Amino acid sequence: MSQPLINLPKTGKSSSQVLEGLKAFKKNDPKWDEGKIFSLVYYLGEEHAKLLSDAYSAYMFENGLNMMAFQSLKKMETEILQMSASLMGGNEKTVGTMTSGGTESILMAVKTYRDRKKARAPEIIAPESIHVAFNKACDYFGVKMRRARLDSDFRVDVDHVRSLINENTIAIVGSAPQYPQGVIDPIEELGKLALEKNVPLHVDACVGGFLLPFLEMNGVKIPLWNFKVPGVTSISADIHKYGFAPKGASIILYKDMSYLKHQFFIYENWSGGVYASATMPGTKSGGSIAGAWAVLNHFGETGYRDLAKRTFAVTQRFIEGINAIPSLKVLGKPNMSVFAYASTDKTVNIFAVGDEMQRRGWYINKQQNPECLHAMITPIHEKSVEPFLKDLRESVEYIRLHPELAMVGQAAMYGMIAKAPIRGMVRTEVQKVMQKLYSLDGSEAAEEQMEHDHTQNASPTFSKKMMFFALNLISKFKRSA
Ligand SMILES: *Cc1c(COP(=O)(O)O)cnc(C)c1O
Repeated sequence: MSQPLINLPKTGKSSSQVLEGLKAFKKNDPKWDEGKIFSLVYYLGEEHAKLLSDAYSAYMFENGLNMMAFQSLKKMETEILQMSASLMGGNEKTVGTMTSGGTESILMAVKTYRDRKKARAPEIIAPESIHVAFNKACDYFGVKMRRARLDSDFRVDVDHVRSLINENTIAIVGSAPQYPQGVIDPIEELGKLALEKNVPLHVDACVGGFLLPFLEMNGVKIPLWNFKVPGVTSISADIHKYGFAPKGASIILYKDMSYLKHQFFIYENWSGGVYASATMPGTKSGGSIAGAWAVLNHFGETGYRDLAKRTFAVTQRFIEGINAIPSLKVLGKPNMSVFAYASTDKTVNIFAVGDEMQRRGWYINKQQNPECLHAMITPIHEKSVEPFLKDLRESVEYIRLHPELAMVGQAAMYGMIAKAPIRGMVRTEVQKVMQKLYSLDGSEAAEEQMEHDHTQNASPTFSKKMMFFALNLISKFKRSA
C-alpha cells in the first residue's frame, strides 16, 4: 500500500493555479463561516477577516526573532502587553512576552517557575480540569503534575490543593475559565493560599483573558480572577481567541521582572554571535504581532464590549435551549461562553447524540470524565441557535428511539475507551494514529486495528474517515482542550 512520494513539480505552476489548489484543499474542512463548528475558529465576518489578513501581510516578512532589529515589532508588542496588563488588573511593574499561542504561554510559565525555584523534583499543582498544555509542559520540562480534585461544580477543591503543597511545589495553577466546563476556579481563595504558603499562582486565562474584562465592564458578575487578586503572579491569555486576532497571538504576563527574567534564554558563546531569546521559537513572523496590534486597536474597548455582549447573550440562548431539552443538561455554572452538556438519562447516550449531530452537519467535540459534548460560542453562532437547538432536540429523540446507535461509530469508540480495562490500550492506539498521520505514505500504523470501516478511501494515500477519526481523537486527547 506504500505510495511513491510526490516530487516538487519540475516547472512551477502559476499563482492562480496554486491559489485554486489551496481553495480546493478546503473542500472537506469544517464550514466555520457557517457557525457549525464550536471550537478552533474565531471568525466575525469578511470585514474583520480582511483587516486581519491586511495587517498580517503588512508584517509578514519582518522577523520577531530579533526585536532589536525590528523596533516596530517590539513597539507593537510592548503596546499589546501594556493594553493587556491594564485589562487584567496589572500595573507599571507588570511585564510579559507575546507567544505563538496558549500552549507556548503555558510552556513558558512552567519553565519560568521551574528555573526560578530550582527544586530537586519540581512539581506543579493544578486542577483536574487544567488545560492539557500543562501536562505537555510538565512532560517537556521534567516537572511532575499533581492534580487537585474538583467540586461538584467543576471548580478546584482548594483544600485539596493545600494538601498537595510541599517544598518541591514550583507553582499552583487555576483557570479563568477552565476549558472543559467553562467555569472559573476560586482564584481569590487560591491567591490567599499562595500568599500563605509563599508559592506563585498562575491563572490560565487563555480562553477568558480577552472576554472576561469586557463582560465585567458590561456588568456581568464575574468572580475575581486576575492580578487584582493578591497572590496571582502570572496570567496566560490568548489574543487569537476572544481577542479575534489572527492565529499565533497569545501573551504571558508576570507580576514583575523577578519572574520573567527566568523565562529568558541566553547563550553567549555561540559562533553565530551572542544569542538571547525570550520565548520558544527562533524566527517568527511579525504578522501575528501586527495582526494582534491591529485588531486590538480596531475594536477598542467599545468594540470588544459589544462583541462580549453579543457573545454572552447568544450563549444564554444556547444554555437555556439545551436545558429545556428533555434528558439534557448543561454542566456546572459556566461563567462566560464555554460550556459542556450531558445526558441525564441512561437511555440517551450523549456521544450517539453527538454523532447524530455530526450527521446533520454540525462539528461537535466529545469530552470524557464526565461524558459530555462541548461548545465555545462566538457571535458567529447567532445564526445557528435555532437550527442547532432544533437538530439537537431531534437528535436526542432519535437516539432515544435508536439506543443501538450507542454501539456504533464514534459513540462506540468513546464509550469503549471510557471503560477501564481498555483504557491502557488508548495510548497505544493513539500512538498508531499519530504515526499514521505523520508517515508520508500512510502505511506506518496498523490500519486494520481501527474498528472503523474505512474501505472507501477518498484519497489513495489516506482514508478520509481515518483522517477524521484521527483528528477527532487527537483533538480529544489534546484536551482535558
Ligand atoms: C485554548 C486554551 C489553551 C491553549 O491554547 P492554544 O492557543 O490552543 O495553544 C490553554 N488553556 C485554555 C483554558 C484554553 O482554552
